[in-house]
Formats: sequence, C-alpha cells, structure tokens
Amino acid sequence: MANIDTPLEKVLDKARNHAVRHLEKLDVAPVAATANVETLRAQLAKELNDSGIPPDVVVDELARDVQGGLIGSAGGRFYGWVIGGVLPAALGADWMTSAWQQNAALYATSPAAAVVEEICGNWLKELLRLPKSASFALVTGCQMAHVTCLAAARHSVLARRDWDVETQGLFGAPPIRVLTSSERHRSFERAIKLLGLGTTQIQVLPVEEKGCLLADALEQELRADTQSPTIVLLQAGDVNIGAYDNFDELIPIAKKYGAWVHIDGAFGLWASTSDRLCHFMKGAEAADSWATDGHKWLNVPFDCGFAFVADSESHRASMASTAAYITLATDARDQMDWNPEWSRRSRCFATYAAIRQLGRQGIAELVDRCCQHAHSIVTGIGALNGAEVLWEPNINQGLVRFLDSSPNATEEDHDRHTDEVIARILLTGEAFFGGTTWRGQRAMRVSVCNWRTSEADVERVIKAVAKCLNGRKDQQDL
Ligand SMILES: *Cc1c(COP(=O)(O)O)cnc(C)c1O
Repeated sequence: MANIDTPLEKVLDKARNHAVRHLEKLDVAPVAATANVETLRAQLAKELNDSGIPPDVVVDELARDVQGGLIGSAGGRFYGWVIGGVLPAALGADWMTSAWQQNAALYATSPAAAVVEEICGNWLKELLRLPKSASFALVTGCQMAHVTCLAAARHSVLARRDWDVETQGLFGAPPIRVLTSSERHRSFERAIKLLGLGTTQIQVLPVEEKGCLLADALEQELRADTQSPTIVLLQAGDVNIGAYDNFDELIPIAKKYGAWVHIDGAFGLWASTSDRLCHFMKGAEAADSWATDGHKWLNVPFDCGFAFVADSESHRASMASTAAYITLATDARDQMDWNPEWSRRSRCFATYAAIRQLGRQGIAELVDRCCQHAHSIVTGIGALNGAEVLWEPNINQGLVRFLDSSPNATEEDHDRHTDEVIARILLTGEAFFGGTTWRGQRAMRVSVCNWRTSEADVERVIKAVAKCLNGRKDQQDL
C-alpha cells in the first residue's frame, strides 16, 4: 500500500497550520470568493492518480488549491444567508470527532457518543425552554429536523384515524392537510415532498405586517374542514425579517381542532435563551414539535440540526428500526431509534463542547450581541445617502435597499441598483451580504449569527458600504 508511512503527526500538523492560518487571515482576506468556477476547476481537477500521493502533500495541495474559492463565512464580516461561525471548543471537539471516528448509530457503536448525545438533548431542551419530556434527535440540519418531526406528525395524525403509516404506507390513507403561512422556509416544503405528503396539500395562509400568521385565517381554515388530519407549521424567525408567529394565540387554536403544530425555528428558536428576546417564543412550548439548527446560532461546525418532539411515542414509532445484527441497549439511548440515519457522525461532541464553552449566559449573550450588531449594521447602512431601511431587525435579520438616484428612477431601477450595490460590496471583499425579494422589492439581507462579529467589524462594514455608494455618486458627478 502506498503512502501509509508518513507520520500521522506530520499530516495533522499541516492540517492544523492550514486551519489556523485560514482563521487568522479572516480579518484581512476578502470575504467573498475571488476565483471563478473555471479557475477553481483548473486548480482542483487533477488527473485521477494511479498510485496515490503522500498524505501531507495531499493536505498541502488541497489547502493551496481551494484558494480563492473559500468564502469567509467563519469570519465576522459575513452576513449572507443564515450561516453561523465555529466556536473554538466546538472546532476542537469536531477535529477529535473525526479522529475518534465513532459511529453514533447505537450505544453499542460508541457508548460515549450515545451518552453525550443524551446530555446534549437535555441541555438543549433546557436552554430552548422546551418540555423536559420531549424526545429529540441530532440530525444534519433543520431540513432533516423537519423531516424527523414531520415523520412523527404523519404517524400521529394518521394513527388517530386508525391508519398505521409505517406499515400501510400512504396509498389509501386519508390525505393530510398542511396549513402554514407565506413566510415558511422552502426546506419545509422539501420535507413535505420527502414524506410523500404532497405539496398541493399545503395551504398558504396570509400574514399581517410583522409577518405573523393571521389567527382568523387559521381558524377559518380549520373550521372549514374538521375531518382531515392536519399539520400546522408555524415560524419562529423567518429568513427575511425574523418574523415570529404569535404562538400564544395560534397554538391553542390549532390544538382545538386536533392539529399537530410544528415550529420551524432554525435560528429563531434561540431567542428562548435570551431574557430580552424570549417573549417572541411565548407559548411555543405548547407545540408538538420543534426544529432548529446547531450550525447557525450555536456556532458549531456543519452539519448539525436538532429535532424535538413532544409525543415521544410517535417520534419513536416513525423512526425506530432494527435488524438481526444490531445490539440494542436496554438501559441507554440508541440514537438510531430517533433519527433517520443509520451510521452517522458523532456530531454531539461539538454541540456538547459549544454549550460547555459558552454556558447558559454565554449563549444568551451571543444571541443578544448578534441582534445588536444586526441592528447597528441595518440602521448604519440605512443612514447612508442612497440607502433605505426596509426592515429594522427585531432579532438578527434585517433588510436594506439602495435607491437609484436618477431623477425618474422606477421601482425596477431601485431593484437593479440594489443588486448592483450588493455585487459592488462583495467585490470590495470587505463584507458579504445576500439579496432577496421581499414583498415585491429587491433588498439586501443582513443576517448576523457569528460569535466573531465585533463592533469593529460593524463599523468597518458600514464604511465599506458607504464607499460603494459614494463611488457611484462620484462617477455620476463626472
Ligand atoms: C436555514 C433554515 C432552514 C434550513 O436549515 P438547514 O440547516 O439549512 O437544513 C430552515 N428554516 C429556516 C428558517 C432557516 O433559516
């Protein structure tokens, strides 16, 4: 066998140095990618080799060849999509996770991973103020948390109609109606597709000004059909404005009609950790299931999401599986009973480490700080000539728009100009923002959920945006 003689330490030292250098350079390196797709292919598409390459060389070359194609999403000036950073303890734990190579399928395949995961579940329920008795699963992200929670929902709403979906399947089953609002995340729809519920079963209900599902609309819809098994999806923080549904009002309505209530709180569920923000989550503990992410606001490495289900029996019934060669624990938690994967990464170690590093207060501070920074960025940019605030953040999400200064500029001109300015900001390498269309207008999204983002970052970014706007004015003057 080729290339097995290189000392392991040599390889890992290289990897460590490249990783540390990357993190140290985040403050000075461009936040956006600088290489285009052809360049990256040219750098990375080697001939498939016959005899292999020494591992330290592989690591060196990989670190070299991805240059220009890495986004600075681990750094403090990245505000695109909703992407968290990586806490040092979580990163360290994640490295060890790879070295330990534990299969977190069962207690038997890694007793430590099974126990750590159990502890994480309990800590998370406490931090997120969810019922102590809820069952949980650590999955790859909020997408799979939806799938996990909705599989439990599907089981429960059909079991109540004497239909065992796990054995009978969906053919011939009573169709499940899904009620949600226009602010839902598309991952929810994908979960509906994957579970065979059918997207035409989704009824999209209207929201009020703040993005909250209208109670009257929900009640009217539920009253119109009291027979169909029903799932109601509510939103804890949407990706544009961080809109929260009014759980206190909506959940009792849904429950009155026997619906299963699922909450998408990919990042928004973390408001529960903050005394300042937990009012947004008021009443949310009465839902049936909750989906959130670790790789967003908790700042653990990808991929990490969390699913929680109040009715643990339905959760287990929808997921549990067994095979002759499997050793099930009698007094410990076998993860496979609760999550859709078979073999899987021990992502619990990074979660455990992140929670231990920050503690309850540290997590609340991280959440509060990100919200403050989001607010400063949005209002700071909004105060610039040619910019306008579309949504001042209530949490960590806000929207700004850039106005075309030509005298007869139309909405389309402002839309185009907004996209131009976003592209110009990315080109400076100083910050990364994404675009969106919100209520018919193009906007720049500001999303802050990285522990690294500092006041200095915020000032620097506002200055960079100001320069992009001035640049255009000067050109016009010429
Ligand atoms: C990110 C996000 C999702 C999807 O989560 P993944 O972790 O990417 O699978 C779902 N809902 C909302 C509101 C999100 O922000």
